[in-house]
Amino acid sequence: MTETISYATNFDLTEEQTQIRNTIRDFAKNVVAPKAQHIDEANEFNVEAFKGLAELGFLGITIPESYGGSGFDTLSYAIAVEELSRVCGSTGLGYAAHVSLGLTPIYLFGTEEQKRKYVPQLCKGVDDNGNLTLGCFGLTEPGAGSDASGTKTRAERKADHWLVNGRKAWITNPHYAKTCIFTARTNDKPAKGKGITAFIGELKTPGFKVEQKEDKLGCRGSDTAQLSFEDMKLPLDAVAGGMEQVDVGFEKFMKTLAGGRISIGAMALGLAQGAFDKASEYARQRKQFNAPIGTFQGVSFKIADMAMEIAAARHLIYHAARLRDAGRDFTMEGSMAKLYASEVAMKTCTNAIQVLGGVGYTREYEVERMLRDSKLCEIGEGTSEVQRLIISRKILGDLRNA
Ligand SMILES: Cc1cc2nc3c(=O)[nH]c(=O)nc-3n(C[C@H](O)[C@H](O)[C@H](O)COP(=O)(O)OP(=O)(O)OC[C@H]3O[C@@H](n4cnc5c(N)ncnc54)[C@H](O)[C@@H]3O)c2cc1C
Repeated sequence: MTETISYATNFDLTEEQTQIRNTIRDFAKNVVAPKAQHIDEANEFNVEAFKGLAELGFLGITIPESYGGSGFDTLSYAIAVEELSRVCGSTGLGYAAHVSLGLTPIYLFGTEEQKRKYVPQLCKGVDDNGNLTLGCFGLTEPGAGSDASGTKTRAERKADHWLVNGRKAWITNPHYAKTCIFTARTNDKPAKGKGITAFIGELKTPGFKVEQKEDKLGCRGSDTAQLSFEDMKLPLDAVAGGMEQVDVGFEKFMKTLAGGRISIGAMALGLAQGAFDKASEYARQRKQFNAPIGTFQGVSFKIADMAMEIAAARHLIYHAARLRDAGRDFTMEGSMAKLYASEVAMKTCTNAIQVLGGVGYTREYEVERMLRDSKLCEIGEGTSEVQRLIISRKILGDLRNA
């Protein structure tokens, strides 16, 4: 893989962040990239890649060592997602969903007992039998997507347990997960966004069913499926954060998504970088009219624009990650980073295919896969339209009731 101009830009990484980048870049190149085409074609999850990430300690990358993690910062994590996605969007997505959505909310919002019970195993990522123990996150439902507060899944409080019935859609990693943190309605009366509780459920619980894997346009190697709950009994202490958090779990999910957007932005960035790498290499080598096609401004200006936009996306993502690491509000910046990077990824992949010409339209150069994988970044963890709502409401305030 050729080193490219955007890496020459100074992003002020620390020695530790640089080391993490080099480690994950090597891993991506040697372990993830060789199977990227195959898992896309076969609609297959790359179990070995996740076991490798577990061995490297990357599955608990941002969790403190005292809970079994590696204790690195958000920026290191964003770099890890970026490097994985640069060679394989499916692996980047599964990894981001595990860390940001399946694991982090249990660490951030769980009781001490819940954290001790689940977080070390999720960081470890593999059980004693060698099976993956990833985390997953169940917010979306067939009838509740962008308006996730429309949750229809219900948890009814009984004398000594919760009785859960309902269905979740588009859930990432469930066939390889040990836990699922999910939302259920516990009260019909309160205002929008209230009356919803966050629960931590184990996938092995009777009544908890993972449906068949979805057959998707892109990120085909990632595991996406519906979940159903049929008279599933959970103990009373399955409420994330404890019983005082009943009816007020929705906000925790919104905060989780805000953090997750940095990683989906990083995924888009990696995909854009991967497509750019292919296009710039080709522009150097492919000759037409007795000259490398990179000598034609129609091509070289595309390369320049791609490099500039990728650098801008990287700045937005690293900035949002640094705000989070500094304990500052990063909601709008995370949305901007995700929105911009996902649009850059789509545009870069389209232009990279143009630079590659006919071969770009085939599977040989992998950019068509990157284009399909990039589309997810404009949909998952809030569509581009929802990001524009978040950003504009942060600027203008919520004018709906003005
Ligand atoms: C591969 C994949 C993995 C996913 N993983 C997970 C996961 O792990 N956990 C999870 O809970 N969810 C997951 N999701 C779900 C994802 O977050 C939702 O698909 C997304 O939030 C959009 O919801 P929807 O698909 O129901 O679309 P809808 O909400 O039905 O939107 C359809 C269209 O209407 C637009 N729209 C809706 N409301 C507005 C509005 N107010 N203003 C303007 N436009 C609007 C949308 O932007 C979109 O273009 C995943 C999705 C995919 C595709």
